[in-house]
Order: sequence, then C-alpha cells, then structure tokens
Amino acid sequence: MTFRLLAVHAHPDDESSKGAGTYAAYEDRGEEVMIVSCTGGEAGDVLNTAVPARAHAERDLPGLRRVEMAEAQGILGIEHRWLGYRDSGMAREDGSLEPGTFAAIPAEVSVRPLIRLIREFRPHVIVTYDETGGYPHPDHIRTHEITLLAWERAGRDAEHELGEPWEPLKLYYDQTMNEERSRSMLDRLKDYPELEHLADRMQAVVERLRTKHRNRTTKIDISGTFDRRDNALRAHASQVAPDNEFFFGYPRDLELVAYPYEDYELVEARVDTRLPETDLFAGIDPEGKN
Ligand SMILES: [Zn+2]
Repeated sequence: MTFRLLAVHAHPDDESSKGAGTYAAYEDRGEEVMIVSCTGGEAGDVLNTAVPARAHAERDLPGLRRVEMAEAQGILGIEHRWLGYRDSGMAREDGSLEPGTFAAIPAEVSVRPLIRLIREFRPHVIVTYDETGGYPHPDHIRTHEITLLAWERAGRDAEHELGEPWEPLKLYYDQTMNEERSRSMLDRLKDYPELEHLADRMQAVVERLRTKHRNRTTKIDISGTFDRRDNALRAHASQVAPDNEFFFGYPRDLELVAYPYEDYELVEARVDTRLPETDLFAGIDPEGKN
C-alpha cells in the first residue's frame, strides 16, 4: 500500500524546476507520484539556441517538448499525463488571450479532465501553484484555479460521468522559491569567492522574494535527489541551457549545507496535522489509505 501524490503543473519543465526533488524523494520512499501538465508548452520559444536537437526544435517545438518531458519523467521515475490544452502564451498587450488556448477556455470546462484524472489516480495529496501562479503566466494562474475547483469537486457525489468520487486529503501550494532559501544560499556563497559574480544575482532574487510573504508550513528534505532534479531539468534542453547559472551554477555541496529543502504551504486539509511538517502525507492514516 502506498500514498499517492498528484502535482498539477502548467507546462512541461515546470515539474522539473518546481518540486522535482520532492517527487524524486517520494519515489525513493516507495510512494506513487503523478505529474499532470495542463498544456504542451506550445507557445514557448527555443530558449537554448545550442539545443542538440536544434532541427527538431525549429521544425516542431511542441513535438520536441513531448520528447523532453518523457525523458524528465524517466529520470524522476514518476507517472505523467497531459491534460491536453494548448499553451496560452503571455497575454497580449490589450490583455486578451489567443482563442482556444488553456487560459482562454472557461475553468468550468478545463476542470473536468482534471476531476476525471483525480478520480482515476486517487491522490491523497495534491500540489499546485498559489493564486499568483508563482510566475505571472496566464496558464499558471489557470492551473491554480482548476486545481482548487477540482479539489472541491472530485469527492462530491456528482458528475458521475467523470468517474467514481474520490476525496483528496491535503492541498498544498508550491513555495520552493522563497526568501529563506535564497538568503541561505547567498550567505553560503561567501565561502566561494570564485562565485562572487553569482552573489549580485542571488541578492536580486532575495529582494524580489522579500515581499512575498507566504505561510510555508512544510519542508521536504531533498538532499538525496539533487542529481535527478538537475538532470530532469536538463532534459528540457530546448528551454534550459546546461550552463544556466541560476539553476546549475551553485555547487551542490553549497546547496546541501545551505538549504537542502523544498517548501510547501498547506492550504486545505481534511485530516488533522501538526504544523510545521516535514512530510506532505503527515496526518494521513496509513491504514486508511486505499
Ligand atoms: Zn510554466
């Protein structure tokens, strides 16, 4: 018997930059992890012009991103599904969205395949973004919205055409990017004079995150997962260059000492739990799981 974790993300690569360490850590523990990507990342650009599959990237970026996602999935050892929507891209200047894209489709419609997936996978815990999206992209905001709706509705005795009701027990927001982590990394950078050039950049991150006050309730130890987390992100080669300093520029022994955690914010719980936590499944009865 295992616990099941569902993480709802907007685009392929979001799972590898926000929470991959957590997913790998739970896989190590023998729990089941499923990622759902709401869109295929079709509106993305080739962000790494040195991508080895350059020809594929230029001919068919959405196709390449599916290949990249499959590779990341294999590295993390998780299950993965596409919700099936098309990437909205950033809103146009007048605030409008490309018709037919994920964020342009009413949440009432796009929540349905997510409810269906929850009823099929039957997760005990769901993770997604907070109301800011973590990043102001219309797809991230919409991902948050439909996940909240699905959290409320998947367990109701209704909409039987979407499967047998299943009530998830805890809902979290990803808070892996936070001031405490950035500050801690910045402090430790002082021990690495050759990396001085990274300090200004990290200082800017600290400043940016300083005003983002969130109730971080849950810290997951990801110290045994750095390689898989990094390799999963590298698998998204059209989006992230292998020498991207923000993601790969910090020595892992620095990170291990500074902050080997990913953080979450518990927002809803249908079980009792004591905060702060070190486990997303805390408070869930292992005998009651099915
Ligand atoms: Zn994204």
